[in-house]
Amino acid sequence: MGSLHEIGPGVHAWVQPDGTWWLNNAGAVAGDDGLVVVDTCATERRTRRFLGALAEATGGAPVRVAVNTHQHGDHAYGNSVLPAETVIFGHEAMRAALLVDPIIDGCPPVWEPVPDWGNVTRRPPSVVFRDEVAVYTGARRVEFRHPGYAAHTPGDVVAWLPEERVLFSGDLLFHGLTPLVFMGSLEGALRSLDWLAAFGAERVVPGHGPLTDAAGLPGVLAAHERYYRFVLDVARAGRARGLTPLAAAREADLGEFAGWADAERLVLNLHRAYADAEGAEMDLLAALGDAVAYHGGPLPTSV
Ligand SMILES: [Zn+2]
Repeated sequence: MGSLHEIGPGVHAWVQPDGTWWLNNAGAVAGDDGLVVVDTCATERRTRRFLGALAEATGGAPVRVAVNTHQHGDHAYGNSVLPAETVIFGHEAMRAALLVDPIIDGCPPVWEPVPDWGNVTRRPPSVVFRDEVAVYTGARRVEFRHPGYAAHTPGDVVAWLPEERVLFSGDLLFHGLTPLVFMGSLEGALRSLDWLAAFGAERVVPGHGPLTDAAGLPGVLAAHERYYRFVLDVARAGRARGLTPLAAAREADLGEFAGWADAERLVLNLHRAYADAEGAEMDLLAALGDAVAYHGGPLPTSV
């Protein structure tokens, strides 16, 4: 149901197995001026559990600052559960997207059961930035950095601890699960892999899936690269044959990716690849409907 891992002195990762739809990772950094929290959770209950575990581990350290790694609800709906005095940071595109997020008001019939949101409301960041900003808690520096282009989403941000060499990647990394880029860019997601590698992180907290480290990261990045190239190949072949994204996905052999959870994201990712190749807008609800069709029914949740 979620557990807190101290991956360095005062550096905490909140990991929610099995990392599938709406089950994200988050974290926090403790310093002399309290906590810097990285992401919240999808629901009130899960965010309260995360914050409760943090309070227990840190003797009730105050949550001074939080940051959202991107706009998606599993990382941001719980913002409204943070203390009122917490200052929330995010990329300006992330703030804009959360303000118009439709799912918090009425979840489309895509997931079943519909996540039990509890009392979450839209609470966007109050401090926004375009490139990067650093915050301190005591002497401890935490950098919030945007890759410079859309990847998982237009407003992706990582949290980087340069002293401790810990990287909170947000959903630029799905460790052992099917990556999702339908609201971002496949080309950007590919590009972001080298950017992530260049940090030289010793510990990495992915947006979903188990923690990894300097030894494990190259394999995780290589798997992402193979998957993104696979999606681009399926899209290229499908478009050449006049197939819809759904038809192209149904014909594709998942190969080594068949073991990854949330395989239906292939359809969503193909919708993005098609839209970008055609210079068209992507129809979000149509894409989600196709993912349900590919899966053969609503996508299971456990939130
Ligand atoms: Zn996401």
